[in-house]
Formats: sequence, C-alpha cells, structure tokens
Amino acid sequence: MNSNNIVPRTPYIVHGNYICRMKVGILGGGQLGRMLLQAAANYTVETFVLENDDSCPAAHLCNHFIKGDIRDFDTVYNFGKQVDALTIEIESVNTDALEKLEAEGIKIYPRPSVIKTIKNKILQKQFYKQNEIPTSAFVITNNKEDLKEQQSFLPAVHKIGEGGYDGKGVQLLKESGDLQNGFDAPAVLEKMVNIIKEIAVIVAVNDKKEIAIYPPTEMFFDKRLNLLDFQLSPAQLSEKIFWKTEAITLKLVKAFDSPGIFAVELFVDDKDDVLVNEVAPRVHNSGHHTIEAQYCSQYDMLWRVMLGYPLGNTDPILPSAIVNIIGENGFSGKAVYEGLDEVLKMDNAFVHLYGKEETRAGRKMGHVTVLSAKREDLIYFCNRIKQSLKVISE
Ligand code: ADP
Repeated sequence: MNSNNIVPRTPYIVHGNYICRMKVGILGGGQLGRMLLQAAANYTVETFVLENDDSCPAAHLCNHFIKGDIRDFDTVYNFGKQVDALTIEIESVNTDALEKLEAEGIKIYPRPSVIKTIKNKILQKQFYKQNEIPTSAFVITNNKEDLKEQQSFLPAVHKIGEGGYDGKGVQLLKESGDLQNGFDAPAVLEKMVNIIKEIAVIVAVNDKKEIAIYPPTEMFFDKRLNLLDFQLSPAQLSEKIFWKTEAITLKLVKAFDSPGIFAVELFVDDKDDVLVNEVAPRVHNSGHHTIEAQYCSQYDMLWRVMLGYPLGNTDPILPSAIVNIIGENGFSGKAVYEGLDEVLKMDNAFVHLYGKEETRAGRKMGHVTVLSAKREDLIYFCNRIKQSLKVISE
C-alpha cells in the first residue's frame, strides 16, 4: 500500500454536529482499562494506552499501545500531547504532567487536582472535612512516634497516606499493644466505625455539570484476603439511608467540581449514619455489574462524558451480583480455570476473565456477574460459582 492509499481522518456526524474522531488516552492498562476499551469499540474514538507491562489486560484492545511508566513526568506528558482527552484507570499517575497538559488544553477526566487530592488519603480526608462531607473522625500521624501519642483514639484504623491499595496500606489498631503495627510514614488514623454495611455508588458528571447516579451496590469482603468477595446491586437499604447516601454522594461530586466518573465508597454504621470512606475518581470494580445489569454501563458512561454525548440511563435492567475470580492459595504460575464450563452453562451468568497469564494466591483474575430478579437467587448463584470455579496453576 502506498501513502496515497491512506485514508485521511474524516469528520463524523453526530446529532447533526460535525465532530472529529477523538483521540483518547488511558493511563494504566489493567482490567478496568480493558473493560473501558471494550465499551469504546461502540464509538468512533481512537484509543491510546500507556502502561509499563506490554502483556497487560488492556494491551491488545487499544488502537495504540505505548509502553511506559505512568508515574514518570516526561512519559506521561509526551503520551498526553498526542491525544485530545485523557483518563485514568488507577490513581498512581504523574499528576504534575497532567496539570501541565491540562494547562495546554488537553481535557482530563477527572481534573488532575482531584486525582492529587484523592491519591493521598490525608488530603482526601481533609477535603471531606473542609467540605462538610460526613466521614469518620480522624487525626494525622507523621510517624510511629506520633502514633504512640494516640492511645486514647483507639480502636482505630491506620491508613498510609500514599501507596496503599486493596487493604495493603490499612492496619486495624484495636488496643495500645497494636500501635507498633502502625505505619512509620505520613498516615491517617481514623476512628473505628461500627460498620453495618459497606456500599458503593458510581456517579458520572459531564462537562455541562449534569450528573447521572447509579443505585448503591452492597459490598461483602473476604476478611482474610481483605479483597471484595461478592457484591449485590441495588443494595438493600431503608429509604432514609438511600436518600442520605444519594445526598452525600451528590454533595461530594459537586465539591470535586470536575467532570468524570467517581466511585464513592461509604459505610452505614450502627446509628444509621452514612459516612464516606473513600473515593476513586475513575471507573471502579464496584461498578463491573453495570456492564450487563444496567442500561448504560459505567464504561459506556465515561465515553459519553468524554465524547460529549448525552449521559446514559443508570437504571438496572435486573438486580445483579458479582463474584470475583481470585487465584487459589498455594498456586502460582500459568493460570488454569477449573470448573469454568459449569459456570458458562449457567443461564444467568456472565464470565469476565481479565487475560492475566499468571495466577498467584489472592490475585484478581476475573469476575462473574449474575442477574436475577430475586436476591436469594443471586446469593445462591454466587455461592455456587465460588464453589465450582477455582483458579489453579498448570
Ligand atoms: P483500600 O483503599 O486499601 O481498599 P480502605 O480504606 O477501603 O482501603 O479500607 C479497607 C477496609 O478496611 C474497608 O473496606 C473496611 O472494611 C475497613 N475500614 C476502613 N476504614 C475503616 C474504619 N474507619 N472503621 C472500620 N473499618 C474500616
């Protein structure tokens, strides 16, 4: 093919307006990026992914894969210069580069200042306090010496300011003897909440500041692994708690004052108070079910936001549950999915494997979404899937 055969970029007609095929970059190439790219295939958008690992889950679904470190200023800046808009699938990105790109006119979802606040748990908590968003009481500790002064604040939860994820930067400190297990780095010490339910709400905000909010999802954790075990949506909440949750979520995203998609994790405590635990300013695993269970998935919604299309319908088509597919203890190496046929034969189950070649104990390898009108059925199927599907190694 000679260069004359290359078709120039043509404008596309959308709702009577001419728009160009937009170039959108995603920082990070994990499973969230993968699912975002699956939704991108429905639109006229040219996708770019920046990620260090070229065998990552998103590598083969984008138009352009660029191998590089999302934490490095020059790498992120150069990646961002070639696109019209950028989004993230993980918060540990170079926000200085994103701020420079934003100043030069690249649209960033969410705004870099919001990522900066959220990626540091200290700044995040201070933001809630300043904006009168209900959250657990807290003090800041800079090192272990500071922490030792806080005996009277126990029982509490110590959370490292930066770098923690999936419970790895979180320590429960019940009594003074536990203080030695705390972090010797800037951290937040939060009062232990008597949690009755953990819920999450996905909410989207577009450039016109219009908001679309998904029904809350109820999370159940595997305490041993500190990983999400299964989740049900919509969450079973009293009307009062439902409205409180929605009001807090809306107040929070208005305070962020940024377009994008936000996953708000909240606690309902034993006094029926609703408290914000943390926020992810991106598509999130608490919204995986929206792919099959909602009219508009969180992934489709983010494309609508970035491409300037109307927001989608967040109503559930049917109630849903999600079971994570997690690497079995005692196995590591090339992944084998034992019992997959049995799950694939279920009429109401949707299997998502993230394409990770290697399994390890506790590694998230995929998820299964189940749909059913009845909550009892959802729980029954979650348990059946957990019993039948095991990730082992060759
Ligand atoms: P990560 O971002 O690493 O997932 P989280 O802040 O979500 O960390 O905390 C992990 C888990 O620890 C939560 O899902 C919750 O079960 C528990 N937890 C966190 N903060 C508190 C708190 N203030 N009181 C009681 N339990 C908490």
